[in-house]
Amino acid sequence: MSEQKETQVFPPPYRPKKWSATPLADMRNTLKRLGLWHHNQQLGRRWAVGCVALEITQRCNLDCSLCYLSEHSQAVQDIPLEEIKRRIDAIYTWYGEGTDVQVTGGDPTLRDPDELELIVRWIAEKKMRPTLMTNGIRASRALLTKLCEAGLVDVAFHVDTTQGYKKYPDEVSLNQLRARYLERVAGLPLTVMFNTTIHPGNIKQIPDLMHFFARHAQQIRTVSFQLEADTGRGVHSVENQLSRDTVLALINSACASPLNYQAAEIGHPDCNRYALTLVVNGKIWNFYDDSALTGDVLRHSTALLWHRNQPLRSMLGFMKWLCFNPKLAVRLTRWALKKAWQMRRDLFACRGKISTLSVFTHSFMPGDCLDCERVEACSFMTMTRDGPVSMCVLNAERDRYIYQPVQLSSGKWWSPTNDGNVHYMEAAAPQVLRWVPEEQLPTRLLKGKARNRRLAKGVRDTSS
Ligand code: SF4
Repeated sequence: MSEQKETQVFPPPYRPKKWSATPLADMRNTLKRLGLWHHNQQLGRRWAVGCVALEITQRCNLDCSLCYLSEHSQAVQDIPLEEIKRRIDAIYTWYGEGTDVQVTGGDPTLRDPDELELIVRWIAEKKMRPTLMTNGIRASRALLTKLCEAGLVDVAFHVDTTQGYKKYPDEVSLNQLRARYLERVAGLPLTVMFNTTIHPGNIKQIPDLMHFFARHAQQIRTVSFQLEADTGRGVHSVENQLSRDTVLALINSACASPLNYQAAEIGHPDCNRYALTLVVNGKIWNFYDDSALTGDVLRHSTALLWHRNQPLRSMLGFMKWLCFNPKLAVRLTRWALKKAWQMRRDLFACRGKISTLSVFTHSFMPGDCLDCERVEACSFMTMTRDGPVSMCVLNAERDRYIYQPVQLSSGKWWSPTNDGNVHYMEAAAPQVLRWVPEEQLPTRLLKGKARNRRLAKGVRDTSS
């Protein structure tokens, strides 16, 4: 077990460079300084941040072999609702309405369903957009229906071979599980995303996955591929970093035309790659053929709000916007006719039925090798006790964050240390509590490498 660190790699609270700047202007200034500001950059123009993670529990009912959580995650208590509410308010204060808030963990469905509903409601009440990030196991139809009523906008299912389901040895066999989750959400006003961690064992199955996603593009809005990274408690050792170009090439091999990742950039290109596709007759076509046109449309429509789970409303809003931008309307019509001609056979075969599918790749950094520029331009923040922090920074120093005590409105300090009881401290607490040593924890509270070490010794407790 690693020694408890007393130092930190980055100062935890993220602060705007100028207090007078809005987060949007602040991000724009940062990107300009880093040479990442251009015609097709979305961050700092449309959004100050891509999304903010709100970790409502560290517990999980799986133990993925590339998990970025801490080995001690299972051994800390869930943060109190009062602190979650404070963090939601903080996200709103920092980034404002329309911010995408990922309700995540651990697996957030392990929290009490009424508490989860309340958390989603609080986010929606602030006119921010809650997304449930889950492995799907406990995301029942009843729970999802209840969360939709509370204002849930998206559900993102993380399903892949790192989860170690014996019944599903590869990504193709896991499509049965993906299809089951799609059935579960059918008809709910939710947009659906699938997250897949890519590692040497499944990289070659990317084209098969893309074909599956294309077959279900009526229901799936976004697919995200995360390249394995050496961070957290993962038991896969990442020796030779997978090449993002290889992943992009494999995605392209499943498409009718190569995808353009330069038309709508989000932050640092070493972190994110994003492309939009059209799925017609099961074939995946690049949507962003014309980077200049895409850049112009995106730059002039920053105030236009896309309601992801209400496509008709979004489309009507876009049509109205086009009426006020006739030059762009003409250019777009020309592009649409050309595109329709290119896809004419498929359009004819499927009688004009078209879906869109967004494709993301995301590359987290190894915990011991953080690039300051990428951290500064980070589009994926986590709200902590002390403010928003880049997810890569959090991953590199998870124990420091999950073992932070939290002051409640009563003035008492809540302790995350889990020995079966909730503890409060009266006096001013230390910044980070000393964690319970691995040897003193039962096997059921261990995950990742720590659990493997324990099992290698042949020790099991009855409840594990
Ligand atoms: S979390 Fe890491 S990889 Fe993702 S955008 Fe932020 S710095 Fe980049």
